[in-house]
Amino acid sequence: MRPLLRLALVIVLMTGCAPSAPDLTPLIQAAVTETVQPTATPVPTLTATPFPAPSATVETRPPEPSAQACGEGPVCSLDGHFPFQRPIGSTGKQVIERSYPYGSTLDGMLELHHGVEFYNAQGTPILAAADGTVIFAGDDKLTLLSWVTGYYGNVVVLEHHLPGLPETLYTLYGHQYQVNVTAGQEVGVGEVIGYVGATGSARGSHLHFEVRVSNNDYKSNRNPELWLQPLPGTGALAGRIEDPGGGLTKGKVNIQRIENGVLNPFSVAAVETYANAAQPINPDDIYQENFAIGDLPAGEYRLSLMNNGALYEQVIKIEAGRLTLVRLVVR
Ligand SMILES: [Zn+2]
Repeated sequence: MRPLLRLALVIVLMTGCAPSAPDLTPLIQAAVTETVQPTATPVPTLTATPFPAPSATVETRPPEPSAQACGEGPVCSLDGHFPFQRPIGSTGKQVIERSYPYGSTLDGMLELHHGVEFYNAQGTPILAAADGTVIFAGDDKLTLLSWVTGYYGNVVVLEHHLPGLPETLYTLYGHQYQVNVTAGQEVGVGEVIGYVGATGSARGSHLHFEVRVSNNDYKSNRNPELWLQPLPGTGALAGRIEDPGGGLTKGKVNIQRIENGVLNPFSVAAVETYANAAQPINPDDIYQENFAIGDLPAGEYRLSLMNNGALYEQVIKIEAGRLTLVRLVVR
């Protein structure tokens, strides 16, 4: 391994959490170069195929649009469900760390990630993401809140019953330097519940944030990026990479902006599908996604991915405060 790469890897490991449709038209088959010229991108021709039927749990969420609300087509825009505010205030860093997102194992080097990270200096206040009740506050060394005790260090779990959302929701705030609440206490959104630290299985101070649906256990997590209100002027993206039979398949989606009809050659992000070989990780009950990213500035984007030597691409639009759902079918 080259020294620079090794250095980058070490830095990532030191700051990580736990060691341990419609078809997407294959526009270019075979001989594809990976260099994309900054020219106007043609909108691919789409064929109509309905979204997959929503799972049975959709029946329990009447206010929400189902995947069927997308109608026919590979892309649709939904209101989404964004009941949670940022757990870090405006004096800290409110952006989600991209190197170790939900569903990632960092190429097998870390535990399958059940939450997202907010990197912040030790002592940065941690805020309640919504009104709720403290159901756990303290060290988890004697209480199993994940796959092993002692994983989160000083941790707070809030229980939420929110208007328009039938399920009981839970948010978890791990690796705190110090908690600021006690079990049984009612808290309001934005209230300081603790302070960022690196206790438990953490390297580098950060907040590990989780969203759990219906049950307060490690197997009931969902991707927080699809539950946190997008930052101002941004929206969220969730998608499925499917084989022709409708099954999910793995891949990495490159995201580029299209500005005034011209493709920006620089990548905004490269989003990998959830890793789930060793143990499953939950998609959203409605979206059934296998990749997602939040906080994309509103605008037009080109999604592309390589699969078996073919390049697939799809143009999408991100709207502020909303969710774009996309279905990419590879052959
Ligand atoms: Zn984490």
